[in-house]
Amino acid sequence: MKKYVFIFSHKKSDGHAKMSSILGGKGANLAEMSNLSIPVPPGFTISTEVCTYYMKHKKYPVGLKTQVNDAIKYLEKYMGKNFGSPENPLLLSVRSGARQSMPGMMETVLNIGLNQKTADGLINQTKNSKFVYDSLRRLMMMYSDVVMEKSKSDTIIKNGIRIQLEKILSKIKTKYNYKNDSDLNQDVLIELCHLFQKKIKSQFKTDFPENPQQQLWGAIDAVFQSWNGKRAIDYRNIENIPHTWGTAVNVQAMVFGNMGKNSGTGVAFTRNPATGENYFFGEWLPNAQGEDVVAGIRTPFPINNFKTNNKNSLETKFPKIYNQLFKIQKRLEKHYLDMQDIEFTIENNKLWLLQTRTGKRTGIAAITIALDLLKNKLINNHKALNRISSKHINELLHPTFNSNKLSLLKPIASGLPAGPGAAHGQVIFNPDDAEKLFKKGKKIILVREETSPEDVHGMFSSQAILTSHGGMTSHAALVARGWGKCCIVGCKEINIDYQKKIFTTHNNLVIKEFDWISLNGSEGTVFLGKLPLKKPNLHNNTIFKKLLSIAYKNSNIKVRTNSDTVKDAKTALKLNAQGIGLCRTEHMFFNPNRIKEMRKMILESDSNKKHAAIMRLLPFQQSDFYKILKSMNNYPVTIRLLDPPLHEFLPSEEKQINRLAKDLKTTSRKLKQRIESLKESNPMLGHRGCRLGITFPIITKMQAQAIALAAIRLKKANLNPKPEIMVPLVGSIGEFLNQKNIIKDTFESLLKEAKCKLNYKIGTMIELPRACLITNQIAQHADFISFGTNDLTQTTFGFSRDDIGSFLPEYLNNNILYSDPFQHIDEEGVGKLISIAIKDARKINPNIKIGICGEHGGDAQSIKYLAKSGINYVSCSPFRVPIAYLALSQLVK
Ligand code: PEP
Ligand code: MG
Repeated sequence: MKKYVFIFSHKKSDGHAKMSSILGGKGANLAEMSNLSIPVPPGFTISTEVCTYYMKHKKYPVGLKTQVNDAIKYLEKYMGKNFGSPENPLLLSVRSGARQSMPGMMETVLNIGLNQKTADGLINQTKNSKFVYDSLRRLMMMYSDVVMEKSKSDTIIKNGIRIQLEKILSKIKTKYNYKNDSDLNQDVLIELCHLFQKKIKSQFKTDFPENPQQQLWGAIDAVFQSWNGKRAIDYRNIENIPHTWGTAVNVQAMVFGNMGKNSGTGVAFTRNPATGENYFFGEWLPNAQGEDVVAGIRTPFPINNFKTNNKNSLETKFPKIYNQLFKIQKRLEKHYLDMQDIEFTIENNKLWLLQTRTGKRTGIAAITIALDLLKNKLINNHKALNRISSKHINELLHPTFNSNKLSLLKPIASGLPAGPGAAHGQVIFNPDDAEKLFKKGKKIILVREETSPEDVHGMFSSQAILTSHGGMTSHAALVARGWGKCCIVGCKEINIDYQKKIFTTHNNLVIKEFDWISLNGSEGTVFLGKLPLKKPNLHNNTIFKKLLSIAYKNSNIKVRTNSDTVKDAKTALKLNAQGIGLCRTEHMFFNPNRIKEMRKMILESDSNKKHAAIMRLLPFQQSDFYKILKSMNNYPVTIRLLDPPLHEFLPSEEKQINRLAKDLKTTSRKLKQRIESLKESNPMLGHRGCRLGITFPIITKMQAQAIALAAIRLKKANLNPKPEIMVPLVGSIGEFLNQKNIIKDTFESLLKEAKCKLNYKIGTMIELPRACLITNQIAQHADFISFGTNDLTQTTFGFSRDDIGSFLPEYLNNNILYSDPFQHIDEEGVGKLISIAIKDARKINPNIKIGICGEHGGDAQSIKYLAKSGINYVSCSPFRVPIAYLALSQLVK
């Protein structure tokens, strides 16, 4: 029979860390910790295969029940307790655990096996009825919410059972004048359990189940079903986790952090996950169960006195246990060779580890940790580089406030700095509203008392998150940090009223829905209004620079930049760009003063006047090329001839048309007619690219002249310009040769006249499927080719670049496409064309230089794919240059 259930305990473990695809991350690590003799409550893992089977067949595979029963028998023997026994009951926890951690997105049920009878037995044993009834009320809350409600419904239930039970708890606390949940005494807890029972019965028309087996299987079902809950699906979509993986279920003997003053629970990291600093960092709560820390219901205490001196720290309160935990975390990090995120429980002065996993971290922390491990020779270059993602680098590009008055501004509130960077937005209290407004292009700050995994879509849609409760390891903090999003938690100085849609600060300032606020997530401060933001200065960041230099040295392929301005070119050079791979010359005319000249060139119908208009562009172009070639001295600069989709340049507003008509000395009516006559039904496939240069050779000649004259001037100043002239949107060899001849003749005659020698190249973009199929011809005449994967994607799919947004969401939702092909290269189609093109080109001309300059040149996933196809360089926007280097260096073993 196939094995579906895997035991873990000190005596026997069926699994180990490398089995995460079957056991999920949590299950695999529980087995590994057991193997390492770390104190882990024994248990068993039901494999992810059961989840996928259950999803497909709506029932469990044959043999599962027997295997689970056998595993429980093993646990009973191991623990010396019996599941369901009124005298000596064994209680269980049931937790999810996917291959890749999805913090808080799926369900957990604790204290399974507790009922009136087993409660009595447990009281007998522990002599602590307060703890037993606290555990029972927790089971009722979790079970009714997770099993009886959520697993039975596809939609999110407003005002569900959990909220109703919370209200009962609140009322009881008010009635007896209690502040915290943990203040409730035994009698009050018994009263509460009765009230819960009644409410559950009236809500579901059935009793809360007393039968431990029914509780167990209800919980297992619910955890499997939570794999397909809305928030889990949302999270997987955002994180690109395959929906086919399924979750494992971990069933474990319960240990209790809520057993009294000698108990507690906490979450800790082997290093600081926000900064990467190498010190043990974490939080804990006395007399509590794990959910209290993660859900942010109570604000926890620091784990040690590092950087703070707290009389409530674990180090102060439980010095022996702290020492034991400290040694274990050191061991775990040494074993896994990465920063670990651990959960622990103290039950009556005994320490138990409930989980270890690779900790989520900010970008700066990811780089700091990887480089530190590398420096200490614990991991090699390849591993260190692969610990960092483009998301982490992107995060370093996080904005900060751009205000020299910042030191004078007083925050309206402050909390814990949970996610980095600064952000501004309008206050919204509801995650659904946040998502809707985000889709309309609004900037939102989601303000919540605490977040739950139900809020994940709203959190994703927000610029930043602000919560009034919770600690650095609360749900909001973990999720935001994972995304590198600005986030402040535990901001106790604000009081939220969801009904009135306001929050009030400790100074009685009232902030309403849609008011603007600004957050500094690195400091934990909240400001009123919309503070201007500034991009970070990467060049002063030594850790980043170190990473860039390692990535650069380890890349086998060059990275160039797509730049049309000297400013961008200089930025890219500082980021180690090795030249310009695409200078879009039409972009040099987007400036309002210049677009006029461009428009005149396009709109003049009289050929003499058109000629004059074109030649008026020459001085602009010559000076632009001079500056850009100079800034990139010694590096190649690929200058693409004009490729203006006409609709991006023609005026459409009445005012602009009237003004231009005056300039052109014509009437507005005639100009409108002319614009009308130039209108193209598909401008992205229209009179652009080399078609323009072929119909108006003077344009190509003028541009070639401008480049040549700029380069000659630089040569004469003893500099070393390396222009590469690139012909756009070529589909036939005739088109290329037509343009090449004009460029060559212009260059040769100007060079001869100036008695100057210049190293220049002429090549073409490959942006059409036909061009991909004739590179054997192109390669005979071109010095280089560069794939314009934006247009190549457009023309291969037949999707317009401009309006794919109108149907792409449906394509993604229905799995017709798995990602936006304009973002990640379509390997099957566009990728195949590229590899055919490269093979054919290299057969004819083995040394031909080949690059990529579409948006995919800055996308890590596409770069990794394209790098293997034999290209010489990728080219991308300046701030993506480090992302490209990282992706390339990650490939090198
Ligand atoms: C391309 O098509 O990929 C390209 C780089 O050119 P543009 O985006 O300017 O059309
Ligand atoms: Mg193009």
